[in-house]
Amino acid sequence: MRLAARITRVRALMAELGVDALLLSVGPELPYLTGYEAMPLERLTMLVLPRTGDAQLVIPRLEVPRVAPRPELFEVVPWEETDDPIALVAGMIRRSARRVAIGDHTWARFLLELQHAVPSCTFVRGSDVVAPIRMVKDADEIAALTRAAHAVDAIAREMRSVPFAGRTELDVHRELVDRMLEAGHERANFAIVAAGANAASPHHEPTAARVIGNGDIVLCDFGGTMDGYCSDITRMFHVGEPSTEVGDVYSVLAEAQEAGVRAATVGTPCEDVDAASRHVIAGAGFGEYFVHRVGHGIGAEAHEDPYMVAGNSSPLEVGHAFSVEPGIYFPGRFGMRLEDIVVATADGPLRLNDAPRDIAIVA
Ligand code: ZN
Ligand code: ZN
Repeated sequence: MRLAARITRVRALMAELGVDALLLSVGPELPYLTGYEAMPLERLTMLVLPRTGDAQLVIPRLEVPRVAPRPELFEVVPWEETDDPIALVAGMIRRSARRVAIGDHTWARFLLELQHAVPSCTFVRGSDVVAPIRMVKDADEIAALTRAAHAVDAIAREMRSVPFAGRTELDVHRELVDRMLEAGHERANFAIVAAGANAASPHHEPTAARVIGNGDIVLCDFGGTMDGYCSDITRMFHVGEPSTEVGDVYSVLAEAQEAGVRAATVGTPCEDVDAASRHVIAGAGFGEYFVHRVGHGIGAEAHEDPYMVAGNSSPLEVGHAFSVEPGIYFPGRFGMRLEDIVVATADGPLRLNDAPRDIAIVA
């Protein structure tokens, strides 16, 4: 029912945008519409979803046992090892399709071969017809995002009483990964641990060389996938009391994050959420040290539409889920970020994370 309703909505958007067929391979759109996730193989798996008529799932014979049959949604079309799956797909779209949307994560190789096989087709991005629908999370999806958020909240809380000094960034990284898996995530997607000056690099790769010491600020940004939906949280830790400077900059950051969350009401352009946080940071004189957009959508992917960034004037809708994560980074000195996942609801912005937002003083 749920999948069929999604397919109906995608087809309505295809009609609106003049897209004749949608081709989905690896990536999150295929499971969103069919319940089946393609393995990232060199062998082609591809759903061919025409605007009208039956959908077909072209799939290597050996992958067929992994497909839960849903004849009401799609026909399974296996191909043998010596078949040409591109010719198979080309044959399905050659006569009926001019404008074809193809999943953004499809290997370039397959797109190039399809362009060659059906030169009459114009290819556009699959996200054009799927993202606007996938962005709006239903109650079950928000419940899954909330469970994932609460799992990492509990970890962020527990880490406040864990000693940091004398350990390497990599060691703390491993602890975060282990804790995410123990807390029910099927996958840890990332766990940034950045100490001192390393925290000025927003996506710092934790190393075994950097030993955390007294007086270090430590940025921890971690998330994974739980029941198919992602978590993502950033909290700051400090070994011993932070300096007045660190405390003052953090106050600006926390205020900026609060302003971004409060701005995230239904109907507000995404770029205004970014502007709300940026305004606070720029007002304190740190504008040049906030070097990234304020947030990204989150769902089956850790980063997906909608993006909270200057230039994205699309209004927030009920059910949009996204991060609000301003940062302030002083190269060579220290950096900080504060991140929560927020859902736009009819009653206003709802933070899914509830772990304490102050700097945790650790040993
Ligand atoms: Zn994050
Ligand atoms: Zn994030």
